[in-house]
Amino acid sequence: MNVFAYPASASWSLAIHGGAGGRVEELGVQGDGEYEEGLAEAYRAGALILEAGGTALDAVCAAVVALEDNPLFNAGRGSALRHDGSIQTDAAVMSGGRAGAVAAIECARNPVTVARRVMENGSAVLRASIPAETIEEWGLELADQEYFRTPGRIAQLDNVQAGRIPAQKHGTVGAVAIDCEGRLAAATSTGGMVNQVIGRIGDSPLVGAGTYARDGVVAVSCTGAGEAFIQGVVAHEIAARVRHGGADLADAVRDVLDEEVGGRGATGGIIAVGADGRVVVAHNSPAMFAATAAEGAVTVWS
Ligand code: ASP
Repeated sequence: MNVFAYPASASWSLAIHGGAGGRVEELGVQGDGEYEEGLAEAYRAGALILEAGGTALDAVCAAVVALEDNPLFNAGRGSALRHDGSIQTDAAVMSGGRAGAVAAIECARNPVTVARRVMENGSAVLRASIPAETIEEWGLELADQEYFRTPGRIAQLDNVQAGRIPAQKHGTVGAVAIDCEGRLAAATSTGGMVNQVIGRIGDSPLVGAGTYARDGVVAVSCTGAGEAFIQGVVAHEIAARVRHGGADLADAVRDVLDEEVGGRGATGGIIAVGADGRVVVAHNSPAMFAATAAEGAVTVWS
């Protein structure tokens, strides 16, 4: 397992991830440095907002939108294909004690913006299969299935279904931040697992499993085999150990990843930012795509 912990390097902190499955070589579409560039660009989108005194919520949403728009990552455009070749996306945001989440969304260009709208509307926390008309009424951008389906993902599904490559590729994206007023926020967005059965929902849109934020405690975003994260209620378990058990954040992240994810024979990665601005990045998968600012520079894991 790899665990990295960094003190706050400014009056705000931001960390993002692009999944814990490693390079999707079988897609055969990426050039040198493209993942790193995509992560750095998404980090900058969020950091610009925090630097200007903006909110943690705006920052995590901006970073996730940038990753959703980048076809290399399994969220928004470039999402993993389900068993029948179609795409449904899931996303969640949480900040200030409120959460919003969406599951099985087929036509929103940026699912994280729909999750945010669900949170702001306040009539529900989790909504599934929101129709295009509602998304349009909310003034959010639509996209059709052809926009999401990239040639690389089509090839990946073919290879998985033919047994040429394993299905265990985690590419979900997420961001966690604390702003200069001490507000914490988390956001996660995914296309789910490649070749997943119709109707499966992973951990990403489930508050407390793949996404969680509580002011004064921690913001967490996860990636990996969703079933383990759901059954271990991983993001909330980390918060509970810090809040009620007084655990150090890096210890809480490491132990929960070990016990609740590794203990179920699963792999994945976690990013967290504490109320003191400290950032933790951890994974028990072979690789993890992530970026944060450490020792004054943007550090990218790939
Ligand atoms: N956690 C996501 C899910 O289970 C997959 C991933 O992280 O790539 O849907």
